[in-house]
Amino acid sequence: MRLLRKRAEPKGCLNLDEMSAYLDGLLPRKLRNELEDHLAFCSACRRTVIDLRAILTSPDNEPVPECAEGLGDACAARLRLHSLADLATSA
Ligand SMILES: [Zn+2]
Repeated sequence: MRLLRKRAEPKGCLNLDEMSAYLDGLLPRKLRNELEDHLAFCSACRRTVIDLRAILTSPDNEPVPECAEGLGDACAARLRLHSLADLATSA
């Protein structure tokens, strides 16, 4: 079955670094406001943030959820976070 076709993102869409910083509460208020303004009208980014938050808050020992359609980036982010965590704990 054909998965969701990747659409061209409207200009100004958020990248995963911004989203994860937002979810971690690391963004300065100005950026956070801009990001929330964007989320208010961009359902694609809003959904990605929701998906990303679900991934980031799921316990580490849970199996990685299967990459649902449109979740490729978020899954990649999770994998990246995992390797960062490995680096942090092995240091
Ligand atoms: Zn967007």
